[in-house]
Amino acid sequence: AAKSKQGAAYRVYEAKMNLAVMQKVELESEAREALRENQFSLALQPQVAMKSGKVIGFEALLRWYHPTKGAISPADFIPLLENTTFMLELDYWVIARACSLIQELGHSGFPDIKVAINVSAGQFIDPSLPDYLQQQIERNEIAPEQVCLELTETVLVSDIKRARDIMQTIRNMGCMLAIDDFGTGYSSLSYLKSLPADYIKIDRSFVSNITNDTDDRNIVNSTVSMVRNMGMQVVAEGIETQAQYDLLCDFECDYGQGYMISKPIPEHQVWSVLNKYVEGGYWKLSKSTGTT
Ligand code: C2E
Ligand code: MG
Ligand code: MG
Ligand code: MG
Repeated sequence: AAKSKQGAAYRVYEAKMNLAVMQKVELESEAREALRENQFSLALQPQVAMKSGKVIGFEALLRWYHPTKGAISPADFIPLLENTTFMLELDYWVIARACSLIQELGHSGFPDIKVAINVSAGQFIDPSLPDYLQQQIERNEIAPEQVCLELTETVLVSDIKRARDIMQTIRNMGCMLAIDDFGTGYSSLSYLKSLPADYIKIDRSFVSNITNDTDDRNIVNSTVSMVRNMGMQVVAEGIETQAQYDLLCDFECDYGQGYMISKPIPEHQVWSVLNKYVEGGYWKLSKSTGTT
């Protein structure tokens, strides 16, 4: 009886595996089609200098608007596409699109806006990443420091020496590097010190508790000071309230992004966000800004 039970359990397991594999294959071909049909776009989330409130750049976030399924979240499709050849294609599409946005911004009077691009594990170790980046920077005639690549700890952990070499190559080109979602992985501050990064992004899970959890408040406060002492700058992600913003200002956090400042917005709204700053002389985004 035990044996047949095991057999049944195995068959259920196998069925689940088949489903996961099939979904992955189906999703990949649907996504390929979607890219050809222009269903992908970038949403841009403003990043501000905490003290002045000035918008210094945007994080590019991938959006998939499916004609029948509606908006599909990157948190749902990116993990399934991870390590497919199509994910790599999509990652390069994001870089091309982001660089062309930087060019357009330059032509319309905003020559120093940065755009941060999320890099997947597969793209980070892809040998053509540096050349492709270089090519896009030259083709669009933009400054390399306007491009920031965001790397999560999981992208970096597998081979630290190799990771450091790739980071150094990209940094030598003049591009910026940020460590994304800091605090969620296993990496320590001493490990961080060995990485050639410009920015550390403190994960939203810490930021969201700084006003009501003493431990998280202390963690964020000391992380900000240590990172700055290491010569890097700090970006807080997921700022949702004025109280969080004010506390992060007190901690001397350099930059911030979050729904309180602005939700990610469609590409065409980027100009109105930047013009508001120019006209007002100071920055106060309305909380209703953004739709995605
Ligand atoms: P991430 O890079 O950590 O991006 C931040 C996520 O937090 C975004 O979710 C953003 O919309 C959301 N967010 C920003 N501010 C707030 C806030 O105040 N409150 C809350 N609750 N959420 C906030 P999104 O756009 O769904 O992206 C999820 C993840 O998908 C990203 O996390 C990133 O890891 C990945 N991703 C997005 N676009 C790309 C891409 O082009 N390429 C790759 N490889 N990954 C991407
Ligand atoms: Mg990111
Ligand atoms: Mg993040
Ligand atoms: Mg995150």
